Amino acid sequence: MELKRIVVKVGTSSLTYEDGRLKLEQIERLVRETSDLVNEGHQVIVVTSGAIGAGMSRLGLTTPPKNIPEKQATAAVGQGLLMQVYSRLFAEYCHICAQVLLTAEDLELRQRYLNCRNTFETLLSKNVIPIVNENDSVSIDEIKFGDNDMLSSLVANLVGADLLIILSDIDGVYDKNPKLDPDAKLIPVIEEITNEIVNAAEGASGLGTGGMVTKINAARICTLSGIPMIIANGSVPGLIRKAVNGESVGTFFVPQKSFLPSRKRWLAFYNHPHGQLVIDQGAEIALQSGKSLLPVGVTKCTGNFNVGDLVTVCNQDGKALAKGLVNYSAVEVNFIKGKISSEISKLLADYPYEEIIHRDNLVMLSSLGGE
Ligand code: GLU
Repeated sequence: MELKRIVVKVGTSSLTYEDGRLKLEQIERLVRETSDLVNEGHQVIVVTSGAIGAGMSRLGLTTPPKNIPEKQATAAVGQGLLMQVYSRLFAEYCHICAQVLLTAEDLELRQRYLNCRNTFETLLSKNVIPIVNENDSVSIDEIKFGDNDMLSSLVANLVGADLLIILSDIDGVYDKNPKLDPDAKLIPVIEEITNEIVNAAEGASGLGTGGMVTKINAARICTLSGIPMIIANGSVPGLIRKAVNGESVGTFFVPQKSFLPSRKRWLAFYNHPHGQLVIDQGAEIALQSGKSLLPVGVTKCTGNFNVGDLVTVCNQDGKALAKGLVNYSAVEVNFIKGKISSEISKLLADYPYEEIIHRDNLVMLSSLGGE
């Protein structure tokens, strides 16, 4: 039997009732099924939601918190409660679990990204089950992953998972909205995420932060990274085991055969741009044929970025073409843009790089599909 590294994401609707109280039987089943997989030699990471829901019930709140401090405080109470339940249940099956709380910022800086990866590797090597959630108590809008579907696909990517299973309150992806159309049919396998699939997904599941659309976005990240992903109903017993055994459950997203290398994936998925460069047509053609971005092709520079920051590269019509890490700050780019190398070396004493963005540090958005 092939041993696998599996990420299982459980959403709020699978973990808590509407008033935020925990669905203990369902959590117990999740823990039992994942413990069994670990006993068999697989490695499992659980990405859990439910902190805000559980916090609401503990604090006696009847409506979800609205402002950021209220949400953060509620999540802080609920996260502790969730971990208490997970730890107790995993201990019953003689397993250790560990809390890993992440913010988008943790994965944006390459060094912190690599540190996170080392933490996961070390936990898994000790047979510990990492329980991951967004660090809601400190995350503010600018540094949020946004939803745990996205977070789970980024974690799957970070650890090089063999499979991501997203457990939801719906059986999978349908060809039409199943809540509105009784003829809607479940799609068992998705080879390519087409516009029809995205349209059909809209409005299909409203619970939790992420509906079906965020799950499709997660699938896009996984399939581009060569990781298979399944969306299935978390209330069906034995489902995780079936998914790991390769049996048909829910909707299976087929990973792409040729996928982006790890560094380009980090550039594409984990980084938020700090500025924008507009380039001329010649530079656009050069980038499309795999070349680096030179100062001469840049016509405009906006934002206040530093050396090593991520920027978006756009064409004259404002269409985003690429993302890349710059070799020069915004001040320097404004000084050297539109100039050829011989001119720049006369102007700047320190001109260490010919390229504003080297092709190794550049990812074309056309290679990501849908962007
Ligand atoms: N991090 C949130 C929580 O634990 C959930 C976010 C989501 O469900 O997407 O309550």
